Amino acid sequence: MPMPVKLSLISSEEVASCLSFTLTVSNQAAYDLACSDRKFEGLLDTLKAKCTRPMDLTSGLEHIVRRDEPLSRHTWFRMGGLADYFVEPTTVDELSVLVTRCGQNQVPIKLLGAGSNVLISDDGFRGVVIRLAAPAFCSIETDGCLVTAGGGASLAHVISTAVREGLGGLESLVGIPGTIGGALHGNSGRQHADIGPATHGAKVLTRAGEVHWRSRDELVFAYRQSSLDELAILEAQFQLERADSGELTKQMQKLWIMAKSSQTTGDWGVGRMFKNSHGVRAADLIEQVGMKGTQLGGASISDKNSNYVIVDSTASSSDVLNLMEQIQERIDLQLGIQLDREIDVW
Ligand SMILES: Cc1cc2nc3c(=O)[nH]c(=O)nc-3n(C[C@H](O)[C@H](O)[C@H](O)COP(=O)(O)OP(=O)(O)OC[C@H]3O[C@@H](n4cnc5c(N)ncnc54)[C@H](O)[C@@H]3O)c2cc1C
Repeated sequence: MPMPVKLSLISSEEVASCLSFTLTVSNQAAYDLACSDRKFEGLLDTLKAKCTRPMDLTSGLEHIVRRDEPLSRHTWFRMGGLADYFVEPTTVDELSVLVTRCGQNQVPIKLLGAGSNVLISDDGFRGVVIRLAAPAFCSIETDGCLVTAGGGASLAHVISTAVREGLGGLESLVGIPGTIGGALHGNSGRQHADIGPATHGAKVLTRAGEVHWRSRDELVFAYRQSSLDELAILEAQFQLERADSGELTKQMQKLWIMAKSSQTTGDWGVGRMFKNSHGVRAADLIEQVGMKGTQLGGASISDKNSNYVIVDSTASSSDVLNLMEQIQERIDLQLGIQLDREIDVW
């Protein structure tokens, strides 16, 4: 329960300093504000509106909201501090209401998929983190050569469903962890096979809380980039090709073994760091500057593939970030190449 705090303000300076104070603690407290000078009433109303924000934000949505949720529970690295609000909506309407309220109150929002491509600060996230893990966002359906999947559906499940149905086009993505939303957001893939070309369209939720359909001709995909940069990818459709299910399975198994041996699949505590640079593998650049196997705190560069970082139980997010910065500086200094991060840092 919020603890009421009574504040009596008498001057504009006090109102101003109170503003920053109350905004800092407004997640924990409700306010009863008063001001002896009538000329500050307008300012006070603004302040009151901001202070009541957290209660308005989640009212009626309490069943899907968790407060102060450790994000380490939801990331591949098992790292990340607390999110003020962690929300798992069960319907698009709930999601839309929440997003609209966040917009009205200027509360920052982040979408989290399976957490396999995010590095979240040990300080956590001040705002709302949304995860589309409820059944309404994870369905997978096939209709002829079309596969429709929720934004929260696991990419692995979508691939195995397609292969089982004798539909080819996604099998080369086998072993990439994460959800359909995460894969489309960053046009995930390997070598020359990305998820983009198979994508027929996507249903998205904008930051204004509106649902739109983005058709194939509106979508642009490039290397680890996509034009799907709206707040949430709710659903996607893939146009696949008829193929022999047994052949697809064999092909998928072969690719899985190859991926496993080069650590492009993995267990918890592993992450990919950088995008390749103009066709040159980031792993090769890291080795070229002699950083293979480098360790910093609890984070070290993988021996199998130098573009992967492995963390142990002592690692902090800043260990990973500092290691990545060291790599970028060394490569810039020695090779004059600026490596871009692939992982999303919050
Ligand atoms: C071991 C390992 C191997 C990997 N191998 C590859 C590889 O071969 N190729 C490759 O491309 N990547 C690879 N990755 C990176 C990662 O798996 C992909 O980027 C994956 O698609 C991320 O999906 P996710 O659901 O985990 O997204 P998250 O990590 O949760 O989020 C990543 C980004 O997507 C956004 N996002 C997530 N869901 C949604 C949504 N529904 N709507 C809108 N935005 C959303 C997030 O806000 C964030 O910006 C690998 C990662 C690991 C740990």
